[in-house]
Amino acid sequence: MGVMRTILLKGAENRWMRERASHYRFVRRALRRFMPGERLEDAIEAARVLREQGLNTIFTRLGENLTDRSQAHAVVEHYVDVLHRITALNLPTVISVKLTQLGLDFDREFCFENLCRIIEAAPAEDVVWVDIESSPYVDATLDIYRRARALHANVGVCLQAYLFRTAKDLESLLPLGPGIRLVKGAYKEPPEVAFPKKSDVDENYFQLASTMLSDEAQKQGMRAVIGTHDRNLIQRIQKVAIERGLSKQSFEFHMLYGIQRAEQMRLAADGWRTGILISYGKDWFPWYMRRLAERPANLLFVLRNIIG
Ligand SMILES: Cc1cc2nc3c(=O)[nH]c(=O)nc-3n(C[C@H](O)[C@H](O)[C@H](O)COP(=O)(O)OP(=O)(O)OC[C@H]3O[C@@H](n4cnc5c(N)ncnc54)[C@H](O)[C@@H]3O)c2cc1C
Repeated sequence: MGVMRTILLKGAENRWMRERASHYRFVRRALRRFMPGERLEDAIEAARVLREQGLNTIFTRLGENLTDRSQAHAVVEHYVDVLHRITALNLPTVISVKLTQLGLDFDREFCFENLCRIIEAAPAEDVVWVDIESSPYVDATLDIYRRARALHANVGVCLQAYLFRTAKDLESLLPLGPGIRLVKGAYKEPPEVAFPKKSDVDENYFQLASTMLSDEAQKQGMRAVIGTHDRNLIQRIQKVAIERGLSKQSFEFHMLYGIQRAEQMRLAADGWRTGILISYGKDWFPWYMRRLAERPANLLFVLRNIIG
């Protein structure tokens, strides 16, 4: 993988940079491309606009690796409030949470209970999505997911196609009738655990997506989400779905706010169920660095904002 990607992903973990980045106006201006704003109200406004275009939305408040219980409690309260507001506003919106926002780093049981509180506050037909973070968190995340899924039907988890282990993880989750959002993976991972070559990640993505759309997975109650902006993969996966007679509403495409907007609109206009993940919140730095790392050409955009 590219040197620039490595530098940006290292930078994502740098506290010194994190503390300074938000003070620069050009960084904040460039950020607007991926985030409608830091406030929940900004996300709600964006969701209203997207709804007019036939697009569903997923909200996530940025922030990760929280270190104390009161911070994690505040996140739970926040999401419970968000769920009430979404219902009151009748928005086609669900939420996605990171387990390290709910206490995964210091108390797994507490984290599990926090996740369950959020799921219980969500309408039964709306899935609460669990993000997946770097590879050391995968076992704990899937363990908590399995326990939550045993209690609640409306919970889904993200899986990363760049990890060697994911095919086995997917196979072991199938009997649960899981919700799975498949993505390529956004963290810096060593070659012992993840495919170093992008073409291998892409091919693994296609194989995993095909499994998620198989008769067997569908019979078991799989809720499949294809989380990618990769147009080539999207077309290949659409072809598989059509060949297997799946309806355009029986699974979903998810993309990130601000990325491949034309493709987002095209999917919705063609009748494919499509959701846009909108991030908000003050703790955007590591997340933003991961977005830059996905496409280092985005740095040019940041530089252009220095000039204004
Ligand atoms: C809904 C959703 C949820 C996600 N949740 C997680 C998660 O929980 N854990 C996790 O590790 N990762 C998550 N990701 C990120 C994911 O792992 C990838 O890093 C990201 O989606 C880029 O990969 P891609 O599939 O779009 O393919 P790529 O091959 O990287 O990109 C395909 C094309 O999309 C465009 N593109 C992609 N990224 C950008 C960008 N940042 N800026 C501009 N253009 C871009 C480019 O045109 C590129 O050629 C999520 C992604 C989505 C869409």
